[in-house]
Amino acid sequence: MEYDIIIVGAGPAGLSAGIYASRLGKKTLILEKLNPGGQITLSSEIENYPGICKIKSGLEFMACWSEQAKKFGCEIKSEEAKKLKMENGKWKIKTYKNEYETKAVIVATGSTPKKAGFEGEIEYTGKGVSYCAVCDGFFYRGKNVAVIGGGDTALEEALYLSKIANKVYLIHRRDKFRAAPFTQQKVLNATNIEIIYNETVKKVFGNQFVEGIILSSGKEIKVDGIFVFVGMKVNNELIKDLVELNEWGEIKVNLNMQTSLKGLYTAGDIRENSIKQVVAAAGDGAVAAINACKWVDELESK
Ligand code: NAP
Repeated sequence: MEYDIIIVGAGPAGLSAGIYASRLGKKTLILEKLNPGGQITLSSEIENYPGICKIKSGLEFMACWSEQAKKFGCEIKSEEAKKLKMENGKWKIKTYKNEYETKAVIVATGSTPKKAGFEGEIEYTGKGVSYCAVCDGFFYRGKNVAVIGGGDTALEEALYLSKIANKVYLIHRRDKFRAAPFTQQKVLNATNIEIIYNETVKKVFGNQFVEGIILSSGKEIKVDGIFVFVGMKVNNELIKDLVELNEWGEIKVNLNMQTSLKGLYTAGDIRENSIKQVVAAAGDGAVAAINACKWVDELESK
């Protein structure tokens, strides 16, 4: 089966790319291993996407993106892309079911926050356990929250939350942070951040929503929210051996979202310097699609 453009991943970046590429008249396919919508469908409320005045759940918000792409002729298949290679000037993508050929590929497989591994973490995700302070922090205005982690993300997000929440407990499993010294100093200067060293969260408790945590020492702390920042896993498996990555496994791209290989683009959380926000992923998708279309036109004019 042959396409002009194949997009891997149907989150905001992939679906936006699908809308743009198919509307520009290219035969476009999106391959998605789960359901369309991406990680944002786990978010309880979206309110920072421009133009969205009525707060929606992530699931509601993403519901019509695939319909919009299909309206322009984009196909969406529930298949996991397992292998990508260049052969005789064409990209070949293998799934368990099929093998596809395409002139350009856009990989938009995103990233996945790592789990901290405490009891109740999965059950309370979206009910007080969050992996995104920008998305969910607002809902903890004037409340007490816990942040887990000792890296740049945890400390930066703890600072962000300290401006919204009443109090932030920053819980780190060691007695030294790995975050930049400058960030550490800012955290130390914040009056409403209490640092708890050498502790992990053992379990979360509550009823319908989080009410508190129990630490490894047995200490109990009442909090309404727990923000977990123990690292991100970039979902780069499909292309990590093909293109240039940075030290965190993110894909290096130019301003056209092109990777180190011609005809191969990435968009969204997987790319270097992504701010990991839906609006940015959608923008990346559009940039990648427009440039992939130009690449296809260039190939066809040869
Ligand atoms: P990270 O640097 O890998 O830090 C993860 C933190 O979580 C570490 O402190 C680690 O503890 C802790 N941790 C890991 N697993 C845990 C568990 N199961 N329970 C409790 N704690 C756990 O991740 P990150 O903060 O997301 O940053 C990723 C990369 O992006 C880093 O290289 C970072 O410098 C970079 N980054 C840069 C910026 C910036 O430049 N502004 C902003 C954000 C991120 P240990 O320290 O004990 O291992």
